[in-house]
Amino acid sequence: MALDFLKDEINSLKEQNLFTTLPVMSTEQAARVTLNGKKVIMLCSNNYLGFANNPRIREAAKRAIDKWGFGTGAVRQIAGTMDIHMDFEKQLAVYKETKSALMFTAGIAANRGTIQALFDKGDVIISDELNHGSIIDGVRLTKADRKIYQHGNMDELKQALEASKGARRILVVTDGVFSMDGDIAPLDQIVELAEQYGAVTMVDDAHGDGVLGKDGRGIISHYKLEGRVDIDMGTFSKAFGCIGGYIAGEPELTDYLVNRARSFIFTTGHPPATIAACSEALTMIQDEPHHLKQLWENRNYLKEQLQSLGFDTGNSKTPITPVMLGESSVAQRFSKALFEHGVWAKPIVFPLVAKDKARIRTMVTAQHTKEDLDEALDAFKKVGRDLKVIS
Ligand SMILES: *Cc1c(COP(=O)(O)O)cnc(C)c1O
Repeated sequence: MALDFLKDEINSLKEQNLFTTLPVMSTEQAARVTLNGKKVIMLCSNNYLGFANNPRIREAAKRAIDKWGFGTGAVRQIAGTMDIHMDFEKQLAVYKETKSALMFTAGIAANRGTIQALFDKGDVIISDELNHGSIIDGVRLTKADRKIYQHGNMDELKQALEASKGARRILVVTDGVFSMDGDIAPLDQIVELAEQYGAVTMVDDAHGDGVLGKDGRGIISHYKLEGRVDIDMGTFSKAFGCIGGYIAGEPELTDYLVNRARSFIFTTGHPPATIAACSEALTMIQDEPHHLKQLWENRNYLKEQLQSLGFDTGNSKTPITPVMLGESSVAQRFSKALFEHGVWAKPIVFPLVAKDKARIRTMVTAQHTKEDLDEALDAFKKVGRDLKVIS
């Protein structure tokens, strides 16, 4: 067959230890799931608030199906926009404290479409070296010059801005929360520098939405930078337990994206049930504050306990807690052994992180009980001792 070359490609991935298959759950996403036939404590979903199987969100989605049916039948600008989309985007703009907001199919589509639509030849895009793949994709869709600064290095950012003087447009783009380490961008300093050079700022708040700031408004609220970041990108796929990316900002921004963002223009509008679920999630995070509070309590508990067992938990500032293990092979064996002991937490290895920085990345949710966490910690203790990571 013409695709015979794939056998070689797959073998090469296997030799490099990079080949994966899909782990399959036979239950809903929750603190405890059945995965590949085994009951485990889930420690690596992005379902921070535990909304993925929440009863209020289920009901909201069901009501929307009853009222609107399932599909939208067209791209948004032809015949795929309903009242529910418009009302939700207004609600989202109010929540994000911007004048306007626009939904995309997912966060990856929001990043690709927005960067592609706004920047091109003659422009410069300045990007943190650890930015998410969907930002990198967006940059690749343009003919703009690109400058990469060392992770969080503000001197390098300043140099890049200085070297970009005279460009048609300059974009400084960063993740808000970096998903491998759980650290957060120095967004206050980034905005300050960008303002000095008249550069456009864009933040990807995928892991900050629903987690940081007042009522989970994200990193801009965390730093009190309301009105000073030009392009606020985020997603409903993580903390909010739903799906869908968005861009929030000035009305001119969202109006322009409706006309020019290819990942918005060439794809069908979200099903009403999805929009209703996202809307309910936004309402819930504001009128049921205990989810967010519990998320942080769980994060603090797990992190403190892992540290007191002797694990190196890196320098996370968020509910992402890495357990640093060094060698890729140790991280892989560690994850496998955790699974045997009833805990699902994936190893993160090269090339996602440096060769000597392999780790298990844990992510708690508001749904985990103390019992869940204690049981997971017990597994970490046993495996850590067996593999001589802790004494
Ligand atoms: C997950 C993620 C995305 C993509 O969001 P989806 O809605 O899942 O497509 C974009 N940026 C960052 C930083 C992410 O972590």
